[in-house]
Amino acid sequence: MSRGYMGKILNIDLGTGEISEEVMPDEIYETYLSGMGLSAYLLNKRIPAGADPLGPENVLGFVSGLLTGTGSFFTGRWMVVGKSPITSGWGDANCGGNLSPAIKRCGYDGIFFRGISEKPVYLSIKNGTAELRDAGHLWGKDTVETEEMLIKEAGGNTRVACIGPAGENLSRISGVSNDKGRLAARSGLGAVMGSKRLKAVVLSGAKRIKAKNPDIMKKLSRACNKWVQFQPPFVSGPATAKVGALLRILPTQMAQDGMLFKIILKKWGTACMNQMSIEMGDAPIKNWMGSNKDFGPKKSLTTNPDAIIERERIKYHCYSCPLGCGGICSLNGEYPETHKPEYETVLALGGLCMNEDAESIFELNEVLNRAGMDSISAGSTVAFAIECFERGILTKEDTDGLELTWGNTEAIRELIRKMIQREGIGDLLADGSKYAAERIGNGSYEFAMHAGGQDLPMHDGRNDPGFVLHYSVEPTPGRHTIGAQLYYEMFQLWKTVKGLPKPSILYHKNRKYEADEEKAIWAAACSKYVNVINGAGLCLFGAFLGSKRLPLFDWLNAATGWDKTPEEYMEIGGRIQTLRQAFNIKHGVTPKSFVVPDRALGKEPLTEGANKGRTIDIEPMMRNYWRLFGWDEISGKPMEEDVERLKIKG
Ligand code: SF4
Repeated sequence: MSRGYMGKILNIDLGTGEISEEVMPDEIYETYLSGMGLSAYLLNKRIPAGADPLGPENVLGFVSGLLTGTGSFFTGRWMVVGKSPITSGWGDANCGGNLSPAIKRCGYDGIFFRGISEKPVYLSIKNGTAELRDAGHLWGKDTVETEEMLIKEAGGNTRVACIGPAGENLSRISGVSNDKGRLAARSGLGAVMGSKRLKAVVLSGAKRIKAKNPDIMKKLSRACNKWVQFQPPFVSGPATAKVGALLRILPTQMAQDGMLFKIILKKWGTACMNQMSIEMGDAPIKNWMGSNKDFGPKKSLTTNPDAIIERERIKYHCYSCPLGCGGICSLNGEYPETHKPEYETVLALGGLCMNEDAESIFELNEVLNRAGMDSISAGSTVAFAIECFERGILTKEDTDGLELTWGNTEAIRELIRKMIQREGIGDLLADGSKYAAERIGNGSYEFAMHAGGQDLPMHDGRNDPGFVLHYSVEPTPGRHTIGAQLYYEMFQLWKTVKGLPKPSILYHKNRKYEADEEKAIWAAACSKYVNVINGAGLCLFGAFLGSKRLPLFDWLNAATGWDKTPEEYMEIGGRIQTLRQAFNIKHGVTPKSFVVPDRALGKEPLTEGANKGRTIDIEPMMRNYWRLFGWDEISGKPMEEDVERLKIKG
């Protein structure tokens, strides 16, 4: 088949041990793409209403992207999907690395598990044979050890996805690892894998992935690569803090071109944002009640981008990526090396907890990657616990003697170790801040910074209200990888999709906070486009190049032989969004329950720093967004006629 996708999935019942292939009709790909869309279609049909996320009826899927392996760039993302034990609704998480092509080389677009195995197992697919194997010797091992052992056993060209102790311990903030500690971290799907006693998926295949029009694919990719390789010299690391400060001080803002982000990303990786974000008000500080005044350039200096890449020994690229923002850094102590800590990790374990010790951030990065625990949620939950301790809600008796004060690096280290092991206070915190607050009570709930149970990422909606809107309206709440006003500017969709508005090049900052129709259009466009991105297996950072420079729609047509317009692809994105929202409704999730806490909305407003005095009126923004999808604007529920209009199949 030469259509980009493989046209087949693999189903495994871990309860009975039955393994079966299933052919997917072309019509499904044309209606939903692959990856996120294929998963939304299948899981809606296959997971019964009210199924326990950690029970046998939940379905856990590992999916590739439609464009993976077709000659397009930035298209090596894979995705894990299932009913989330955090939200009890739709769950997904994606990751780069090399697993996505490995799924397709085994002949499948996705591998779906249901049931629960009696004992720990892993799935092996080798030379076209799929079998479940005993994983007793792997249970308890961390993600890096597990992957090394499995590659040694399987040999050669093998790729592994696995869980660590956090997933085995059913932590709701655990994820799934590949490439030795790179984590598909969000939605708590590591716990779903743990509940199924599925330790790993081990893939060695050699099937060819073919595009319908390989010559057109090549031509499109060559043109895209010119933009990626354009790399003028750029400012030093500490100067990024000055750029952030300038962005804070100016009363006006310029629409951002993603080429600027690409240039700094290529040089530093996501560390490029560490100090700039703090200075401009993008990074939440001190559990969202502080500001750049509390964690300014001096305190964050050890995590300036230059200091991060000074420790970088090797740069790496995900599969099919010409940019390469990843790196392996040297580490002092128990482990010799770690993946270059991402911006989210640095801020969650740094400014959010007022931790100035860069060494501890590198070390905890590796500890969490090996445990398979989400570093955003871990840092966010630690910050919550510190605030509870500082306010006297938790005492030393509750914390097993830990002095949980702001910036106490040793206490942070020990608390995270306990969370991974579910030991003492760590057991209370191992499921994230919302679940901890529900158990602690005593007014602590208002300090748990989450959306629907998902701990909030390191982008403050008081700086860009688009972030907080998406945290609150997405079927997977609390997600920073879908939309923001900044993202709409960088996607530059108005250049390719008819009818989308072009934002002003220069605007007063106050305009960001107005809940008008145009911003709802931006937000809906981001959601739809990111569903197409996740159907294709594309990296968001590639999409930031802008829709003219990154030819996603043209690649999709060239890979499949379709002749769809950008508007038709955006409609597919809308269909996937409606299907994910319908999944939540079916499972009893109330969309309004995803609204972020008052503090993240600036109620009470901050009295100093970059976001001083800013309050977000989120309700009208949510209503406008839901209305644009054709959903009920009060409840956020998709309407019958909308399901009909989008030709969603039951
Ligand atoms: S930009 Fe970075 S995360 Fe994205 S595909 Fe390339 S290396 Fe991977």
